[in-house]
Amino acid sequence: MRRIVATGASDVGRVRKGNEDALLLRDSVFAVADGMGGHLAGEVASSAALEPIKQLDGQVFGDPQAAGTALRDAVVAANATVSKMAEDNPSYRGMGTTLTAVMLEGRRMHVAHVGDSRAYLLRDGQFSQLTDDHTLVQHLIDEGQITPEEAATHPQRSIITRAIGVSPEVEVDAMSLDLDPGDQVLLCSDGLTGVVSDDDIAGILESEANPDTAIQRLIEHANAAGGPDNITALLLRYEDPNAPSRPRARAADTDEPRTIAISSRDEHDSGDWAGRLGAYGSMRTASPTDRPGDEQPSPQAGRILGRAVAIVIGILIIGGLVFGGGRFLLSRSYFVGLDDTEVAIYQGVDASLGPFNLARVVERTDLLLDDIPVWYHPALEAGRTAADLTDARRIVSTIPLRDEDADDSPTDGADQDTNDGGDQDTNDGDRA
Ligand code: MG
Repeated sequence: MRRIVATGASDVGRVRKGNEDALLLRDSVFAVADGMGGHLAGEVASSAALEPIKQLDGQVFGDPQAAGTALRDAVVAANATVSKMAEDNPSYRGMGTTLTAVMLEGRRMHVAHVGDSRAYLLRDGQFSQLTDDHTLVQHLIDEGQITPEEAATHPQRSIITRAIGVSPEVEVDAMSLDLDPGDQVLLCSDGLTGVVSDDDIAGILESEANPDTAIQRLIEHANAAGGPDNITALLLRYEDPNAPSRPRARAADTDEPRTIAISSRDEHDSGDWAGRLGAYGSMRTASPTDRPGDEQPSPQAGRILGRAVAIVIGILIIGGLVFGGGRFLLSRSYFVGLDDTEVAIYQGVDASLGPFNLARVVERTDLLLDDIPVWYHPALEAGRTAADLTDARRIVSTIPLRDEDADDSPTDGADQDTNDGGDQDTNDGDRA
């Protein structure tokens, strides 16, 4: 009889004091959440986000589309829950979490995802990332600004652009696919993928017959690489003892971790299997950001050297950047700054943080530095944070102009309503 074998574990790692990751392992729902926010807020966020997913456990939908929608709705509900908690409780302000959730109905697997935790599929020796990372570096790759190889060591690669709980609204990626016997699905937090290469992860899953041992080896690998972050891994193996043998199928029988019988409904479906054997033929991404040609997840960059060191550097940079020690950078961040000597509106984070271009000009102005009083130059050089594009335009409209005859004093109708010039240390603008 075909069945799902599911096992998972979470480890604090070697650097962090607490574990802000959470995992959910039930009969039909599984999830990984990586919380952030500090002072226990991250733990609160990640565990709260799992609650709506948990409610789906054991529910039977019949209609695959309804099941996928229910999972997606649960992620939206998780966002509402966490963002409300953050709003209501000052000590939870700025908290958030990633959430990568899976629901099984027979061999049909639904995935819903926000953030940079990941779902992978290992099928016939091919290891593919099913989920897109909602990260700054992925955004830069998509924009053609950096290569995947550069992203792998990018100091800001742990900055995420989408998370549960940081805004009342959230965009959820969703997909569904049919599992084949022998398939392995891995859900994991970035504490694993940040320090262990895809090749190494796939090698462990491929070679280790016992799923519990496979999980332990993944965690050991991450810790051996420094364990800079909490590490969570959850493995689903779709076993069919009658299928052409794979060693782990027999080992799993004797080992009895958590097992789930495939429902009889699935048996009726089996006639369709041959027609659905194409690895991702049945997968769809329901996200509005879905791009044609993205069905085949690109393999991640290979082995990465010095990744742990880069993470620490990244954390230091981001720590000075982001309110509350979180790691959000919402891609909608805007600021008014200088493009050489011209005032421009940027989207992203001030590029002066490092050698990387983390922001792009979205609007130019005719304003030149020479037209602006000298006392105002530092504010532009540092960049003035805006809540949105409209706010950025408002800031541009209030930039004082130099009067040839007057002295350069800040009394000539300048924008005096705020003193936050160049203030890049919060992401409040995005949540406003
Ligand atoms: Mg993490």
